[in-house]
Parts: sequence; C-alpha cells; structure tokens
Amino acid sequence: MVNAMIRIHVDEDKCIGAGHCVRASAKVFDQRDDDGIVVLLVGETGNELEPELRKAERLCPSQAIRIEITQGAGSSQSKQEAG
Ligand code: SF4
Repeated sequence: MVNAMIRIHVDEDKCIGAGHCVRASAKVFDQRDDDGIVVLLVGETGNELEPELRKAERLCPSQAIRIEITQGAGSSQSKQEAG
C-alpha cells in the first residue's frame, strides 16, 4: 500500500501576507521579509502534516493555499475549502 502524500500549492498573486499559514505550519510556510508574501518551504510532504495543512488552507483569508492529496501513481484528489 502506498502512503498518501500531500502536495502544496500557493498562489503568490492571491496572498495578502496575513501569515496564518506560517502560524498553522511553520515547517511548510514562511513569509518574505520585505512584503510578507508566502514562501513555500516544502512542496510535498507525507500525510502526517495533513491536519496542520488543512488548517492553513482553511485559515488563509485569500484562498491562496491549495493542498492536493496524492495516493500513489495515477491517482490524485484535489480539495479546496472556502475560508
Ligand atoms: S495565510 Fe494566505 S494570505 Fe496569509 S500569508 Fe499565508 S498564503 Fe498569504
């Protein structure tokens, strides 16, 4: 059985620098020093980070974060929650 992985996508054009994502998951998100725009530290993680990534996605006020659960080759599921 293949463990699920999580791919993280951020849209810098939508980001308003609110920083909720960093507070939810500092392992995955950072912010640029000059303007606070999100910086993705890790593009893909194991599913042990799913709770905090879901939280970041939910808390982002501009829907700039999308997480995608991938379940091995050829299968992927994308979910987006409105904030
Ligand atoms: S929570 Fe959303 S708007 Fe705020 S810094 Fe992160 S990506 Fe940008």
